[in-house]
Amino acid sequence: MSTTDTIVAISSAASPAYRGIIRLSGPDSWKLAFKLVHKVSDPQPNHWFNVQLADPPVPVGLIFFRAPKSFTGQDIVELHLPGSVPLLNMILKALISAGARQALPGEFSSRAFLNSKMDLSEAEGIAAVIAARSAHQLRAATSLREGSLHRWTARHVEELADLLALVEAGIDFSDEPGVSFISPEILRSRLDSISADVQKLRSSAVNWESLPTTPAVVLLGRPNVGKSSLLNSLSKQNRAIVSPQAGTTRDQLSVTLTSDALSIRLIDAPGIEAGASQLSELMNQTRRNVLLTADVILIVLDKTDTSQTLRDVLDEVADINAWKLVVRNKIDLPDGLRALPPEIDLPFLSVSALTGENLDELFAKIKELAHRDAPVAHECATLNRRHLQALSDAHQALNRAREAAESAGIDQFPELLASDLRAALDAMGEISGEVSSDDILGRIFGSFCIGK
Ligand code: GDP
Repeated sequence: MSTTDTIVAISSAASPAYRGIIRLSGPDSWKLAFKLVHKVSDPQPNHWFNVQLADPPVPVGLIFFRAPKSFTGQDIVELHLPGSVPLLNMILKALISAGARQALPGEFSSRAFLNSKMDLSEAEGIAAVIAARSAHQLRAATSLREGSLHRWTARHVEELADLLALVEAGIDFSDEPGVSFISPEILRSRLDSISADVQKLRSSAVNWESLPTTPAVVLLGRPNVGKSSLLNSLSKQNRAIVSPQAGTTRDQLSVTLTSDALSIRLIDAPGIEAGASQLSELMNQTRRNVLLTADVILIVLDKTDTSQTLRDVLDEVADINAWKLVVRNKIDLPDGLRALPPEIDLPFLSVSALTGENLDELFAKIKELAHRDAPVAHECATLNRRHLQALSDAHQALNRAREAAESAGIDQFPELLASDLRAALDAMGEISGEVSSDDILGRIFGSFCIGK
């Protein structure tokens, strides 16, 4: 595929909208765009021009970016038009007849990558932002697009390249006894430090493919406070068994609620139970696993709960990065908390799963929190399968290099050591795209949408 011709695509959504965008990239972008509009006398890069299409005579906003200071590193022209799909298609056709080529999926991003405007992980971030279906995914994709992984990889590639250069210099001088460019101790300690960093990233990373796209809202509280009843009432289904007998919910149970085209997954977790039986251990573990996936935690209380029980429940979820909402159930019965203690700064609602009182307010609040971004930015990286595989390969190669440095010493088999270091460098290079076959690039960019 040529990367030097001029490509064109509709870069906005293929549905009616207030504005639509057509984008050209390549050396003839200018010339082609000016065939369709009334001339701009002195076109300046990075300026917005209000012009008129020659046919049909509709107003167009025109902006051009001159190579190399553009997204793709080539000359780019964007036409901002009224977002009518037939109009956008008509202009697209006219530009193709004038000599532009219809861009393939992801071709703008792949040109940006090939012209070193971004690395492969940042390009993947663009596709991931577009594909994001939840606040979690959007946050992770944005961090990728903004270069979090790129910066991490660049730092370690440089460190590894330094080490490799020192080991290879030793090979060149292997005939001369006593000439060594790095001591075994320093080599080992630098390898240990890189390997520990790789391992840290691997173990703290969340796999992008496994991120839930529907926010999870988890009901948490002691047995019998009415969690199953709330799940049934909010979903208007009889999904969960409701019983005055404590500990009826022993496994997680979930329903999907949809409203205004937004979905949430409401999960009834096993109730908090004291005891050391094997079953309560299992229930506690299940609850913990469910809570770790939560976007919102509903802390459910009933009339028997005191401020202290609330504090105990909050302690259990103190380390979990989710929105929290305290729900006092069974307000049809007297007694119980009417307000939160002043030091607990959380939203608070009183409801009755039995009579339905305040359940609409509760549902509205749940929806609002579930689709808000998480309270604190996630520390952990979200990586895709390709990144995780490359990190695993790098880790293995680093371990082999470490073993080679340990058992044989640098002087004995420096070639072995150099080859393992090169393998680790290659694995890291795969993340940024420095070491990638055309086939892999084709697959990655082929999954983008056209116009990106
Ligand atoms: P869970 O163990 O927390 O899931 O609690 P359940 O939903 O099984 O409810 C325990 C008991 O409380 C059942 O007898 C329910 O009928 C009762 N219950 C649940 N919500 C309410 C409510 O709003 N008002 C009253 N009066 N009883 C309720």
